[in-house]
Amino acid sequence: MDLLNTLVDKGLRREPPTREEALAVLATSDDDLLDVVAAAGKVRRHWFGRRVKLNYLVNLKSGLCPEDCSYCSQRLGSKAGILKYTWLKPEEAAEVAAAGLAGGAKRVCLVASGRGPTDRDVERVSKTIRAIKEQHEGVEVCACLGLLSEGQAERLREAGADAYNHNLNTSEGMYGDITTTHTYADRVDTVNKAHAAGLSPCSGLIAGMGESDEDLVDVVFALRELNPDSVPVNFLIPFEGTPLAQEWNLTPQRCLRILAMVRFVHPDVEVRIAGGREVHLRTLQPLALHLANSIFLGDYLTSEGQAGRADLEMIADAGFEVEGADQVTLPEHRVPGGCHEGGACGTPASPVPSASTPRTDLVAVRRRGAGTDVAPNA
Ligand code: SF4
Repeated sequence: MDLLNTLVDKGLRREPPTREEALAVLATSDDDLLDVVAAAGKVRRHWFGRRVKLNYLVNLKSGLCPEDCSYCSQRLGSKAGILKYTWLKPEEAAEVAAAGLAGGAKRVCLVASGRGPTDRDVERVSKTIRAIKEQHEGVEVCACLGLLSEGQAERLREAGADAYNHNLNTSEGMYGDITTTHTYADRVDTVNKAHAAGLSPCSGLIAGMGESDEDLVDVVFALRELNPDSVPVNFLIPFEGTPLAQEWNLTPQRCLRILAMVRFVHPDVEVRIAGGREVHLRTLQPLALHLANSIFLGDYLTSEGQAGRADLEMIADAGFEVEGADQVTLPEHRVPGGCHEGGACGTPASPVPSASTPRTDLVAVRRRGAGTDVAPNA
C-alpha cells in the first residue's frame, strides 16, 4: 500500500504524517490490519528495537475526587465499586513500588486522584519519591497529581521526580463534553509547567469515549505540539457507575489501528499502552507490542490488569525483551530533554522467561471429559 510505504519512510525520518494520512490509517480495513501493524512495527523497531519498557502504577490516593471527568471511576458521584482510600504513607507507597520494580518495572508512576495537589500534598509526595529513590538507585519516578500550581513542578523535580504525567485525553473540541470542572487549556498549561521545570513530559489520550476519527487525530497531533517524551494510550474502561458505562465501542482491530496511527505521528517517542489493554485488545495484545514500546506491568489505578507474570511471558513469547537498567528508553537525539540525561535509569529487570524455557507448568494431564465422571471442557 502506497500510504504505508510513505508513512514508514516518514517515520524513519521523524517526519509526521499529514492529518489526511493519519485519518487514512484509522480508516484501513481489517483485511489490511497486519500490513498496518507491520509498517508501524518497522518504525517502532527502528527507534526502539525490540525493547519493552515496563512501568508500574501506585495509586497514592484513590477515589473521592471533586472533578467530574466522565471516563473516570474516581470522579465526583461515581457509583463504581472501587477502592477508596486517602494518601498512602511514604513507606507504604515505597513497599508497593518495590513489588513492581522487583517484577521488572523501571519506572514507578505515583498517581493521586484530585483536581491538583496542595503544597502539603507535594511535600507528602516528595517524601514518597525520596523513600523510593533511597531504596532503588536509578529508578525513574513519574508523578501524576493533576493540575499543578506555580512552583509545584519545580519542587517535585527537586525531590527527585524524573517525569510528570498529565494527559490531554481527548480533542480540544470534545473536551467540554467529557469534563466540565476544568478545561483543556488547564491541562495543556500543566504539561507545559512540568516541561519547563525539567520534568520529562508524559501526556496521552483515552480512546473509545465516543469520539470521531477527527477527534483522535486532533488530540494525537495536539500532543505532538507539546513535545512529550512519552504518550500513554488508554482504551476506555467503561466502568459501571460512570457516565460512559455504555461506551463499549472499541474492537481489538480498532485499538491496533489507533496505536499504529499514534506511532506514525510520534515515531521516536515512547508510546505506552495504558489502561484498557486487556479489556479491549484481549488476545491481540502481543500484536500491539509491535506498535508500542512500553506498557504498564500488573494492575491499573482502580482495575486489575493481567498477572505481571503473564505480561512478562507475553513479551518473551512475542519475541520482545524487557528494557533493563543499562538501556536508555529514548533514541539518542531525544535524550538531552528526557529523564535519561547523564546515564541510564532503572533497576535491573528480574529474569524474564525466554520463549524457549521449558513450560512444564502449562502441561496439565486431562482429568475431565471422556473416560471420567467430570464434565468435558466446552
Ligand atoms: S481523571 Fe483525575 S481529576 Fe478527573 S475525576 Fe479522575 S481522578 Fe479526578
